Amino acid sequence: MKTQKVVVVGGGAAGFFAAITCAETYPQAEVHLFEKSANVLNKVRISGGGRCNITNALEDPAMVASFFPRGEQELIGPLTRFGTKDTIEWFTSRGVELYAQDDNRVFPKTNTSKKVLDTLIDAAEKAGVILTTKMVVDSITPPSEETNNKWKVVLYNDTEVLCDRVILAAGGAPQMWNSLSKIGIEINKPVPALFSFVIDERFVDGLAGISFNDVNIQIDKYKRLKMKGDVLFTHWGISGPAILKLSSLAARKLSRLNYNFTLKIDWLPDFPEERLQKELIRFRQVYSRKRLETERLFNIPGKLWARIVEKAEIPSRIRWVGASMEHINSLVRVLKQTEIEITGKNPNKDEFVLCGGVDLKEVNFKTMESTRFPGLYFAGEVLDIDGLTGGFNLQAAWTTGYLAGKAVLENVEFPQQTEE
Ligand SMILES: Cc1cc2nc3c(=O)[nH]c(=O)nc-3n(C[C@H](O)[C@H](O)[C@H](O)COP(=O)(O)OP(=O)(O)OC[C@H]3O[C@@H](n4cnc5c(N)ncnc54)[C@H](O)[C@@H]3O)c2cc1C
Repeated sequence: MKTQKVVVVGGGAAGFFAAITCAETYPQAEVHLFEKSANVLNKVRISGGGRCNITNALEDPAMVASFFPRGEQELIGPLTRFGTKDTIEWFTSRGVELYAQDDNRVFPKTNTSKKVLDTLIDAAEKAGVILTTKMVVDSITPPSEETNNKWKVVLYNDTEVLCDRVILAAGGAPQMWNSLSKIGIEINKPVPALFSFVIDERFVDGLAGISFNDVNIQIDKYKRLKMKGDVLFTHWGISGPAILKLSSLAARKLSRLNYNFTLKIDWLPDFPEERLQKELIRFRQVYSRKRLETERLFNIPGKLWARIVEKAEIPSRIRWVGASMEHINSLVRVLKQTEIEITGKNPNKDEFVLCGGVDLKEVNFKTMESTRFPGLYFAGEVLDIDGLTGGFNLQAAWTTGYLAGKAVLENVEFPQQTEE
C-alpha cells in the first residue's frame, strides 16, 4: 500500500527529474506529476535550438557554479552532490549517448532532443510516476487541522488533492509564484535574462552576420558592468556570447532602464589609445595611396571598418595620405569607444531564461526544502537561479530536481512491506 503521497507541480526538466528520483528512491510512495500543457518537457525539446544542450563538460562544482549570475554560492553544495558528471552518467547509463563540443557544451550524439525526452518519459513510467497533463495547479496551501495536516493542492477544476509533500517545479509561471506569495514566500520579480540587444541606428545597417572577437563592451550607465568577448551583428542589432553574458549579468538593471541605454564598444581593447594613434599614423605612411574606408585593418571585417570610419565622420573617399591628425584622433576615439543606442531586447532563440523567482533565503540547499514550510520543496527555474548559456540552466534543473526527489521523504519511516 502507498502510504505517502507526493505531488510534483510542473512537467519540465526539474519536475521530471524530481518525480523520477522520488519514485525510484521511495517505491512505497505515490508520486503524482501535474503538467498544465498537453505536452511535457517542452523546453527540453526546443533547448539548444532543438539539439538539447543537456549539460556542460566542466566538472568542478565551484567552476560550474561560477556560470550562474544568480545562485552561484547556493549551487556549489548541490552541484557537489549531483553535478554535471552525474547528469552525464544518469543519461548515458539509460542509453543516451552524449558528446562534448570544444566549448564544453554537451549534446546527445543524435543531435536532437527526442532521445532525451523519450528516456525521461520512459523512466517516469517505469518508476510508477502518475503523470497527468492538461492539469493546471491553481494553488497550494500548507497543512492545517482542516486538512488533517496534509498539503492542499487545488487544481483548475476545483478538485482538491491532499498530499504529504509538494515539489514545486513550475518554472517561471506567474500563477505558482502568486500562490507562493499568498502564503508569505518571498518572490523576486521576474525579468528576462539571456537576450540580444536591438539597435535602430545606421551603424548596424548591412552588418548582419558579421562577428568580431575579443571586444570590450560596457553599459554606459553602469561603468562596472563590462565584458570582454565575441559579438555578432544580427538583422535587428547585436548578439553573440559577450552580449548574452552581459544581458544576464545586468538583467535587473537593464529591465529598470527599460532596455534603453548606451552600449560602449572598445573594438581593440589590447591597444592603448597612444599605441593605436601611432599605429594609425604608420598606416597613413604605409597605405598612403589607398582609400581609408576600404583598407581592412586590425582584422576588422571590411563592412564594420567602413561603419567605424563613417562614425568617425571621415569623408568616405579620402585616401590615407589625406587623413589629418583630427581624422586619426577621431578614428582612435571610435575604435576605443563606439557608442551605440540600444532601444530594446530580443530573446535569444537558442536559450532563454528568467532571472527572478523564489528568493534563495527561502530554501535549504541541502534538501531543496522550504526553510519556513516543511514539506514544500523547490526545483528548477521556479527559483531565483539562472545561468549563462552552455547547458548550465538545464544542469540547475537536473541538480535541484534530483536533490528534491531524494530528500522529499528521507525522514519518513515506511511500514515494512509484507508478502501477500
Ligand atoms: C528556447 C529555449 C532554449 C533553451 N536552451 C537551453 C539549452 O540549450 N541548455 C540549457 O541548459 N538550458 C536551456 N534553456 C533553459 C532551460 O530549458 C530551462 O532553464 C529549464 O528547462 C527549466 O526547467 P524547469 O523544469 O525548471 O522549468 P520549465 O521547463 O519551464 O518547466 C515548468 C513546467 O511547469 C509547467 N507549469 C507551470 N505552471 C504550472 C501549473 N500551475 N500547473 C501545472 N503545471 C505548470 C509548465 O507548463 C512547464 O512544463 C532553454 C530555454 C528556452 C526557452
